[in-house]
Amino acid sequence: MPDHEPDERSERNPELALLAHEVRGALTVISGLSELLKRALDESERESAIDGIARAVRRIDTLIAQALDGTLTSGSGHERVDLAALTGRVIDEQRSVSGRDITFEVRAQPVVLGAPEALERALGNLIDNALKYSLMTSPVDVSVTQDGDRAILAVADRGPGIPPSMHDLIFQPFERASAQDVPGTGLGLTVVRGVAESHGGTASVQDRPHGGSVFRVELPVAP
Ligand code: ADP
Repeated sequence: MPDHEPDERSERNPELALLAHEVRGALTVISGLSELLKRALDESERESAIDGIARAVRRIDTLIAQALDGTLTSGSGHERVDLAALTGRVIDEQRSVSGRDITFEVRAQPVVLGAPEALERALGNLIDNALKYSLMTSPVDVSVTQDGDRAILAVADRGPGIPPSMHDLIFQPFERASAQDVPGTGLGLTVVRGVAESHGGTASVQDRPHGGSVFRVELPVAP
């Protein structure tokens, strides 16, 4: 699905723009998996593409319900979530849709209190960006770790990086930094920070040593 530049209308209605951004993401998954389905070599590939399409359709349904009751970033109910297991599921889907190399390192298995669909949304946006802003041949490295009572989800790429002066600004709605030739709306990171903060956590970015960026979401570990 093509991304669209923000226009005056979406800036006037950021909630609707956020919904549009997330629905478009799910439609991209459906479109990618439909292509895979056409080329599926065996029954298990076919089944996994169909399952992925069904999950993306359910996601759109949830998105619309949550946008209507104002819980797009907080999610509608918090439960105990195994962060590494959730991350593994999102990565599996992103790998099959993008065909890209996404590495995953599980250094701890923290449990957090959260809305799984909102956490998946935040992580999905970080991985989407890491893929979008780096070369097709370059891997994206995801890890889950724990530091004391904080669970840390990190998504690292070897893209162009982000000027330090923009490190905080890019989390604001419609703010874009580098690579203006890459289509986008400046809303993905707004969702990431919104989800992190509504779960009592933080979202930030740092330069990656030797080039690229590392985005981190830190969440309190469940008591
Ligand atoms: P979008 O990607 O649609 O523009 P985001 O809110 O997801 O919106 O990102 C805001 C801006 O942050 C992007 O326009 C881009 O300039 C920068 N950015 C986000 N992720 C990355 C990344 N992994 N590498 C380089 N720049 C990034």
